[in-house]
Amino acid sequence: MDRFSIERELQQGGVYGHFIDNRFDAPAAEHVIATHNPANAHALAQFAAATHVEVDVAVASARRAFESSWAKLTVRERQVHLRRLTDALERRTERLAWLETLDVGKPIRASRDTMRDMPYTIDYYAGVLLALTGETLEVGERDVLNFTLREPLGVCALIVPWNYPLTLALLKIAPAIAAGNTVVLKPSEVTPLSALELARAAADAGMPPGVINVVFGGGDTGAALAAHPDVAKISFTGGTETGKRIYASAAAGLKRVTLELGGKSPLIVCDDADLERAVEVAMTDCIRNAGQVCAACTRLLVDESIADDFVHALGRELAKVRIGDPCDQHTDMGPVISAAQLERIRRYERVGQDEGAEYAAYQDVSARAELHDGFYHSPALFLQANNGMRVAREEIFGPVQTVLRFRGEEEALRLANDSPYGLAACVFTSDASRAVRMAKRLQAGTVCVNYGVKAVVEAPFGGYKQSGIGKERGMQALLEDTQLKSVRLYHG
Ligand code: NDP
Repeated sequence: MDRFSIERELQQGGVYGHFIDNRFDAPAAEHVIATHNPANAHALAQFAAATHVEVDVAVASARRAFESSWAKLTVRERQVHLRRLTDALERRTERLAWLETLDVGKPIRASRDTMRDMPYTIDYYAGVLLALTGETLEVGERDVLNFTLREPLGVCALIVPWNYPLTLALLKIAPAIAAGNTVVLKPSEVTPLSALELARAAADAGMPPGVINVVFGGGDTGAALAAHPDVAKISFTGGTETGKRIYASAAAGLKRVTLELGGKSPLIVCDDADLERAVEVAMTDCIRNAGQVCAACTRLLVDESIADDFVHALGRELAKVRIGDPCDQHTDMGPVISAAQLERIRRYERVGQDEGAEYAAYQDVSARAELHDGFYHSPALFLQANNGMRVAREEIFGPVQTVLRFRGEEEALRLANDSPYGLAACVFTSDASRAVRMAKRLQAGTVCVNYGVKAVVEAPFGGYKQSGIGKERGMQALLEDTQLKSVRLYHG
């Protein structure tokens, strides 16, 4: 298997239809979207775009499955299905890695690492499902047995972005279906390939029809799905402005939401930090997935006494990053997702300089003819910046970080918390007491000490402030995909 055979297959595949009731629809010819490889702008595949008609059909399928069978299965029966799905994905990890690289522009080494973890996400929820229990309550009444039941919600609409399409899809699907819900997944219109493969895996695994449905589309597919009256919960990962619109749409139907939105996470480097380690983490966050990571530390807060050394060392590392074809095993950083995203990053380059920051790019991708057709951007830093600048407050979503200087712990905390976002934060210090003090005071859903931000499946992940509502991952995701019933039984 290689990129060429997959590209050929996709081109010959015609228009891919939605996955509803465990089979692929014959697509309606008038609503089609094309996807492109961000490394060279070549067309990759064509997909049907769902209107409210197909969304209705998919939600009806999910509702039927929920009411007739899935929610009624025993935990053991659901576990068997989840483990078959794990196996079906495991058989596809190499293929999924190539699809992700072609679709997202992620270096193949990184895609392979990501895909190796995917089956575990489902396995994890198949396991912790056993801990999803109610409780017996002591109440102040004689002859009354009061207990609680954890019950599924119904049909969940899952809207996932283009930066980690399969990771984020599985992090939503696995807890939702483990808890007894059924789902309609809507991948980003720019990266639908892994969702297509996931649907094939679901069919191969013999999932009961309607438990996992996938609708493709863009424009208003997501809005139609979120607004559907038979959807009980919407789980969205993506931009904060879209998240707010989804929240408003959910309010009309009093639907549950989980929103995992943007970030401008601080990486605080104290004067007693292991500088080499801090530089390595900052460099990784700048280039990982070409900087398109919601939790990436994009505000580098550095103690003034070591700031020059830190910037020089980081600059040296960024200059060494191997930028190029994501299909090449040696590539560290590929392109950003689209021409529109590249333009957005370039706009911020101008905004920062107009605000008075100094812009330092550490490579010149424009000088490399072989990269001209793709959406490549050089790793870069904004220097001499302050926390009031837009480049210190807004999510750029590219390989660009803003360096801010501070004097002492109090100022570091003040700057770190002075942000509309609160997704994650990192602290580098060799003083354990300081580490604990700062971790407690940082307004962020995840705090990492002497370590880069890593979201693992076992620990809850989600933002404070405008970075979102609710948590994904861990046991918490299962709890959020259920509702609690109190049962009171008189037995006198
Ligand atoms: P978004 O990530 O904000 O949202 C696009 C997705 O949301 C599409 O699937 C779209 O489907 C759906 N959608 C849009 N409006 C609604 C609605 N009212 N109800 C339900 N679904 C809706 O957009 P972009 O991909 O354009 O990204 C914009 C910015 O967001 C990026 O530049 C980046 O800064 C940030 N981002 C953050 C991510 C994160 O991980 N936190 C991931 C990706 C982007 P449809 O068009 O069919 O309705």
